[in-house]
Amino acid sequence: MQTNTQPAPASSDASAFPEVVVSGIQPSGTLHLGNYFGALRQHIALADDETRREAAYYFIVNYHALTTLRDREALERYTHDVALDYLALGFDPDKAHLFMQSDVPQVTELAWIFLCLTPVSQLEKGVAYKDKVAQGLGANGGLFTYPILQAADILIYGGTRVPVGADQKQNIEISRDLALRFNAEFCTEDAPVFPVPEPLILEDVAVVPGLDGRKMSKSYGNTIGIFDEGKALKKKVMSIVTDSTPLEEPKDPETDNVFALIKLFADETQREEIAAAYRAGGYGYGHAKKELLGLITAYFAEARERRHELAEHPEFVREVLRAGGEAARQRAEQFMEPVRERVGLLTTYRR
Ligand code: ADP
Repeated sequence: MQTNTQPAPASSDASAFPEVVVSGIQPSGTLHLGNYFGALRQHIALADDETRREAAYYFIVNYHALTTLRDREALERYTHDVALDYLALGFDPDKAHLFMQSDVPQVTELAWIFLCLTPVSQLEKGVAYKDKVAQGLGANGGLFTYPILQAADILIYGGTRVPVGADQKQNIEISRDLALRFNAEFCTEDAPVFPVPEPLILEDVAVVPGLDGRKMSKSYGNTIGIFDEGKALKKKVMSIVTDSTPLEEPKDPETDNVFALIKLFADETQREEIAAAYRAGGYGYGHAKKELLGLITAYFAEARERRHELAEHPEFVREVLRAGGEAARQRAEQFMEPVRERVGLLTTYRR
């Protein structure tokens, strides 16, 4: 078996395949402002933009969530909530497919084939795995082989473009390696099965600070949920950590957590006005927090209303997921049939 990346056969270049956008989101907790500004906002805009692509597949990766979650009720709820969040935030199911990873069990089949093509040494270099274990997550095999399932998720739809944050670049490299390795090992040069996917690195992604000033993350318990509202939202905003500069003294907006969040929501004029108030003195952190509360509330007002409406119609959400899953399974089979055939997997029930 080959262990090194092969040079790309010219025809497995993504540009030789139809443009297909793929994107996964983990249902492992309530989505927060960091997820929104760092990922969801761009994902949804991309799903909406039909100009440059043939299809887009957006999946809720519940198999991946099992690497850290062992709570049936929570997994079901988070899965449904992610779908609700996407739809409420403007994801249009007529333009792109939204579905659950578990509705395409073929991805686990492909992941197994890919695992057999992956040197353990490549997995051992996984930065995300090491980070997660350092954070105290159990070092199970699912976590270790996470990038392989991710590669299967991307390649099974013939994904050519994958929107990711810079931190995910290494995982996309594994997907690219696997596409090349599979094509080199099992295909002729003029008939590759998989395109080599290109990462679409999301630019301008600010690291959103959490309530304690560290990166907002569900693992730090310092998040503001996208759809937090009322008293719960107010309580969180009021608890954002600031320094102890007295109200009357001038303050530096650029070093303050509250202002870092205000910047995400305010337009330029508001931003400049608030920054000037910080610098002038006589403007306390309490004022800034009230401003932020108003901005968050207004920013998500429409989406929040839509989410309440959608929550009343779980059958609509289920139907979106069902239809998305059906389209995704059909697409997946178009890739799996040649894959099984090329590797020599016989079955008695398929034909
Ligand atoms: P969490 O840290 O809460 O577990 P994930 O790792 O599931 O979040 O991240 C999902 C997506 O959201 C990733 O694309 C990640 O880059 C983005 N993201 C998460 N937290 C932040 C943050 N604080 N600022 C910017 N982007 C973030």
